[in-house]
Amino acid sequence: MTSELQHTLAKSAGFSGTSLHTGEKVTLKLQPAPVDHGIKFKRKDLADEPTIDANIANLKMVERATTIGEGAVRVHTVEHVLSALSAMGVDNAIIEMDANEPPIGDGSAAPYVEVIKKAGTTAQEAPRRFFDVREPIHVESKSGSLLVLLPDDKFRVSCTQAGPNNHFTQFFSAEISPGLYEREIAPARTFVYYEEVALLMEKNLIKGGSLENAIVVRGDAVLSKEPLRFADEFARHKILDIIGDLALIGTRIRGHVIAVKPGHAVNAELARAIVKQHAKITALSVPRTFPPGEGGLDINQVMEILPHRFPFLMVDRILGFEGETKCTGMKTVTVNEPFFAGHFPGHPVMPGVLQVEAMAQVASILLMKLAKSASRIGYFMSADEVKFRKPVFPGDTLFIHAELIKARSNRLAKAHCSCVVNDAVVSEGDLMFTFLDK
Ligand SMILES: [Zn+2]
Repeated sequence: MTSELQHTLAKSAGFSGTSLHTGEKVTLKLQPAPVDHGIKFKRKDLADEPTIDANIANLKMVERATTIGEGAVRVHTVEHVLSALSAMGVDNAIIEMDANEPPIGDGSAAPYVEVIKKAGTTAQEAPRRFFDVREPIHVESKSGSLLVLLPDDKFRVSCTQAGPNNHFTQFFSAEISPGLYEREIAPARTFVYYEEVALLMEKNLIKGGSLENAIVVRGDAVLSKEPLRFADEFARHKILDIIGDLALIGTRIRGHVIAVKPGHAVNAELARAIVKQHAKITALSVPRTFPPGEGGLDINQVMEILPHRFPFLMVDRILGFEGETKCTGMKTVTVNEPFFAGHFPGHPVMPGVLQVEAMAQVASILLMKLAKSASRIGYFMSADEVKFRKPVFPGDTLFIHAELIKARSNRLAKAHCSCVVNDAVVSEGDLMFTFLDK
């Protein structure tokens, strides 16, 4: 399941080329970045080397290409490099450039896939963030573009694309995985219509543009240095752009994008709509605060913090905290516990794994108090050195101790835990947790 962990680049790698708009040379370098960093651009050519978050909130322009910016700093044509990073499974990276635009390469995302493969990717110690589509989202434009996002357990994009007078009507659909992207999507090049290009060339707006980095469509004719790489190359390139533009939401999508004549403007509108729905869902899980001090928590307060319920709530109350690293909880084990019916009939013993669950619940309360709110949830990752020393019987009162022994980062924590009955340790273990926003 390592693909569900965040990934960054194993080392830095880069390449140089021409920027489309200015025609000048630009060097781009991809650098590794820590967990939850996301993707940021860094302008090495400017004083103080400012960074710009690849985030839809920073969107500035969507004409012909996607431009983002913070303050007065801009980065143009971000979609191809973002598309490659997202589809190749890179969650955290810095894109360093010594110009305001990445190299155009051959007009596809293949050079970026190459550089990502050169750097390699490596798993990081935090789970990936996903946006799970729960209800359909759709956006459309006056010019006839339509984007629909439907629930799906994978990330899929289906696109139909038509040129002027419905020439070059194409369709492509795929589940986006790194392998498929590299083979079927990344090599698809930018295409432009001759009439639009002629106008831009007149205005001197695409100094770096040539038949080496774009396919030019004039009437029924296709002009480019090399022949079409796919019969449906245009639809594939539109999918490449959709993936790049949607990367600006900052989380991965589990859903199916169905696109009719997409473009950067409508792609960005869908990205905004996704962020809005995501915020609405997140707002439903209200963050709860802990009472101040080291006092205990009664069952109602425990249930406000923990999502667990009967029969899986293994803490009756929290007796108290000691500083920021210790916490003690309590559970009265009665003969009415549902597990005694089957574990074992005639000789009821509390299962050891449920004692570990009790430890995990007390430890996660401690960790959430440390995090100052319950809006982050601790996920139980592993248990080491677990020992069951004595059986626990109906009528026993379990005192559950948790002590934080290591917090490697604010995303990972280790706690030593034990269950005590009548002053004797009945079970113990070291539990590891990772945190996620709810
Ligand atoms: Zn493009």
